Amino acid sequence: MARVYNWQIGREMSYWYPESRPKKQFAAVFDTNKCIACQTCTLACKTTWTSGKGQEYMLWNNVETKPYGSYPLAWDLKLLDMLDAGKWAGSTYQGQTIFESAAAGERVASWRPSDDDYAYPNVGEDDCANQIDGGASFSLPHMAWFYYLARICNHCTYPACLASCPRGSIYKRPEDGIVLVDQGRCRGYQECVKGCPYKKVYFNPMTGTSEKCIGCFPKMEQGLQPQCFVNCIGKIRMAGYLSTPDQARPDNPLDYLVHVRKVALPLYPQFGLEPNVYYIPPIHVPPMFLRQMFGPGVDAAIKTYRNAANDDDLAGLLGLFGSTEQVMTRWVRRGSEVAGVDDRGTTLVRVPLKEPVVERAGFDRVYQIMRTNCP
Ligand code: SF4
Ligand code: SF4
Repeated sequence: MARVYNWQIGREMSYWYPESRPKKQFAAVFDTNKCIACQTCTLACKTTWTSGKGQEYMLWNNVETKPYGSYPLAWDLKLLDMLDAGKWAGSTYQGQTIFESAAAGERVASWRPSDDDYAYPNVGEDDCANQIDGGASFSLPHMAWFYYLARICNHCTYPACLASCPRGSIYKRPEDGIVLVDQGRCRGYQECVKGCPYKKVYFNPMTGTSEKCIGCFPKMEQGLQPQCFVNCIGKIRMAGYLSTPDQARPDNPLDYLVHVRKVALPLYPQFGLEPNVYYIPPIHVPPMFLRQMFGPGVDAAIKTYRNAANDDDLAGLLGLFGSTEQVMTRWVRRGSEVAGVDDRGTTLVRVPLKEPVVERAGFDRVYQIMRTNCP
């Protein structure tokens, strides 16, 4: 195995191939505090890419309610049980990644879902942790809580799907870091289905090949964000490109959120894949649960996010989420306005920091009626 550097766990680790970073890396930030689990993203993806025969059960994008939701069933709990995944010393992970804890003869520590594991995509939906005793909803963090976790393929820097494939059918595009399955080479061994800890590769029994999220690369190539991003009702998502920490540019929106303000964190960094979808953690959930899921940066990220109302740069950038279909590779705040900008310096969209408040009179003089939502 090669030795590679994984900045998310603050150390070198073992991987099956030498470090080879793409020219630029497709990445995303999801704000969990804004997701309403409407599943519009899920359907936007489904109708675009997985409406064919053999794809019925595939959810390249899914949204699950934590702590009890999961698709496939218990995808994360089963792996956490196999790893000693809680050992952090500051920002350095001291446990073993899935590559380092692989059994003899295996490429990664992993498990293969059964058909039953794919049978309950809505399991745990809106089920909350703990009991709702009197007054529980008035305390923070809430004693009774749940939150929505939207998931796509993380287009990982060190993909376990790619490392697991005995045919070399999975590749990471050097131009944008999107991870794809070569349908012509794949022979359906399903080692990738087993190897991906996030369970984001699916086997198609009709074609006999494995399929996965393609990061809507035909759109990204035209400077447009993927379908699940532009259809998001809660405007929780932003897609773009992320630099490594040493190359971070504050005028790149994703670099600013991930590296500069450290308000967006990777999902299960301890697995060791350097996943490239980042989450702003939910502020109402006990931090102990969140630290296991997003790593040791959770407390600082929540503190920064909570202060966004007094932080014009952060609040402004969050206001750009869902504001345009185009990929904003740069952003700038000018006074009380924030702009998304493309590579050529063209302004794509402008958003005010504060929307004007309009108070409507109870009686509508044009239509000569009382407005039902006004006294
Ligand atoms: S999330 Fe899974 S399928 Fe996607 S790149 Fe990472 S290992 Fe591969
Ligand atoms: S469309 Fe957006 S708000 Fe709705 S479930 Fe998906 S991520 Fe959440």
